[in-house]
Amino acid sequence: MVSAMEASTVAYRVLSLGAGVQSSVLALLLARKDSRLRELGYPQPDEAVFADTGWEPDYVYQHLDWLEGQLPYPVHRVSAGDLQANLRKGRTPSGHRFVDVPFYVTNEDGKRGMLWRQCTNHYKIRPITRHIRQRAGGQRGRPFPKGRHVEMWLGISLDEHARMKPSREPWVEHRWPLIDRDMSRQDCLDWFATEYPGRLLPRSACVICPYRSDKHWVELKETEPEGFQEAVDFDRWLRRSTRNPVRQVVAGRPYLHKSCRPLDTVIAEKERAGPSAVDDFTNECEGLCGV
Ligand code: SF4
Repeated sequence: MVSAMEASTVAYRVLSLGAGVQSSVLALLLARKDSRLRELGYPQPDEAVFADTGWEPDYVYQHLDWLEGQLPYPVHRVSAGDLQANLRKGRTPSGHRFVDVPFYVTNEDGKRGMLWRQCTNHYKIRPITRHIRQRAGGQRGRPFPKGRHVEMWLGISLDEHARMKPSREPWVEHRWPLIDRDMSRQDCLDWFATEYPGRLLPRSACVICPYRSDKHWVELKETEPEGFQEAVDFDRWLRRSTRNPVRQVVAGRPYLHKSCRPLDTVIAEKERAGPSAVDDFTNECEGLCGV
């Protein structure tokens, strides 16, 4: 039996560009009309979309500017607002009093927890969905036209296959070209190092993302000390006063690091302990951050 998606036509093909390792390599392979991707049913996309929270490290924005110059198809940047400005007001992009980044928290009784992650939804999924819906001919307030759908290609690699999730929208079909092409994150790094020797291929993630592993924090500190210092200052600000807008909304003391200790202290300890003391980022499950 033919599924509803198989029976409908593709209105538009879009690459979700996180500007991290995997989606950057995928974007470049597609730009070069990679024969294996073409055999697997991946021609060039109509465009790539990058959702900007306004708070990525500078090296990610520099990499994105460079990448855009390498691609024959357009890169469209969308934004739901400024993550930092909203967090400092304890608000979401739509103005609700809510902290949408999954900070770690300690409660009065000493128990630890983590806040509910909604930032990916607010700053990535919603603005991308709004844009592609309009781009594919969907009209505001009306159902998406029948018999058409959007293909969204996501840069998830073999080793992160647990992050493959179907779209929440019935008119969007998610596809994973790197998985179909049997490429791991390391394969992507190796390919890039061969093709662009000496060029930095950064991981992407907001400066203050609590899903950063120790290894990723150390990388931020080494590659962009000012970005790391911003995260350290923000981490301190989170606990500075109970009048702080975040503390007004969140019960407990928030932290950026999973140990629920000040970020600079923990990372300095990890660095002294050496490479075996650090671990890696794969927590974000929607496949839109960190790839
Ligand atoms: S990178 Fe982290 S903080 Fe930024 S939107 Fe994704 S999960 Fe949230």
